[in-house]
Amino acid sequence: MKIHEYQGKEILKKYGVAVPTGYPCFSVDEALAAAEKLGGPVWVVKAQIHAGGRGKGGGVKVAKSMDDVKTYAGQILGMQLITHQTSAEGQKVSRLLVEEGADIKKEYYLGMVVDRVTQRVCVMASSEGGMDIEEVAEHTPELIHKVYVDPVAGLTDAEADDLSTKIGIPAASVAKARVALQGLYKAFWETDASLAEINPLILTGSGDIIALDAKLNFDSNALHRHPEIVALRDLDEEDPAEIEASKFDLSYISLDGNIGCLVNGAGLAMATMDTIKLFGGEPANFLDVGGGATTEKVTEAFKIMLKNPNLKAILVNIFGGIMRCDVIADGVVAASKAVGLTVPLVVRMKGTNEDLGKKILAESGLPIIAANTMGEAAQKVVAATQGA
Ligand code: ADP
Ligand code: MG
Repeated sequence: MKIHEYQGKEILKKYGVAVPTGYPCFSVDEALAAAEKLGGPVWVVKAQIHAGGRGKGGGVKVAKSMDDVKTYAGQILGMQLITHQTSAEGQKVSRLLVEEGADIKKEYYLGMVVDRVTQRVCVMASSEGGMDIEEVAEHTPELIHKVYVDPVAGLTDAEADDLSTKIGIPAASVAKARVALQGLYKAFWETDASLAEINPLILTGSGDIIALDAKLNFDSNALHRHPEIVALRDLDEEDPAEIEASKFDLSYISLDGNIGCLVNGAGLAMATMDTIKLFGGEPANFLDVGGGATTEKVTEAFKIMLKNPNLKAILVNIFGGIMRCDVIADGVVAASKAVGLTVPLVVRMKGTNEDLGKKILAESGLPIIAANTMGEAAQKVVAATQGA
């Protein structure tokens, strides 16, 4: 689960990490009131969306007067902000953060993730802050320094200071950086975060170390332990199809293509998407209906896929193990009739009661395109999207 920058900064503050004073705002008037309260002389008006790269996309503006604040708040609120982390249409901005402008002397990068190989939290720091860390990782990986933290000891003073020194934080500010590094680590640990990023962490003209940005993602498997974090969820930032799917316990991820996929099992779903791509198609979604798919679940899955305006065809790929093919066939027929299917439907099923399942499909009177192998199914569905 993701949260907004201003919410992340509230959490950081509780863990002792210095952040600029700022207020979330939902209107231009609120932005002006916030600026008034902060007092200036410099404010920063920041779009709050669940994606990074806002600065480059025009979603972060430095204001030097109340008129500027008004202009920028008006421009940014309601805009479709396009960044390298949003879809091509961008994300609509409905919240702002108005905060005090910081006196930036140098920008650093600080990030934390769970490293599956070492089963530890990996702390990453770099002198190359403020920019795409992915670029730094690709072109100058030696500028990213890492510590794999011992879960019993936590991030020690020595480790924190060593990282700070390696990224070039001046000796006089290393103690302040330690507070930020250890604070972020503690926040990460105690909130069951899956990713935490401060980019940039800055050194100010007076030697302070401040988090100018805050990105926190949380492990959804641990959210039951954190009602206070669940309360920060902003459904406007999430994909409506994915929210709908989660209500029916369907694992659904929206993608950019035009071929809907309905599959049982995450591995088979991945393989199905790969096969579609192999034959030149693009999946519109990942969808795992799970082992216990009922007619109702299959119907809901069809409804969700059909709401996608880009959808040109659907591929149902089922392996009947514990799940019987005839049950899925019944579900597909009932769902197709219930939703008034308007796009070509290719079905491939293998396994338990396969013959019975195929018979149900054949006798349904629906224009279902049958396929025997995954390759054949993928080829047929790709052809169907091309009007063949
Ligand atoms: P994003 O990563 O989404 O582009 P950031 O919050 O990192 O958004 O802001 C982008 C840049 O804007 C920062 O690297 C920093 O240079 C500048 N910036 C952000 N907040 C402030 C602030 N409070 N004071 C001064 N500059 C800021
Ligand atoms: Mg940033």
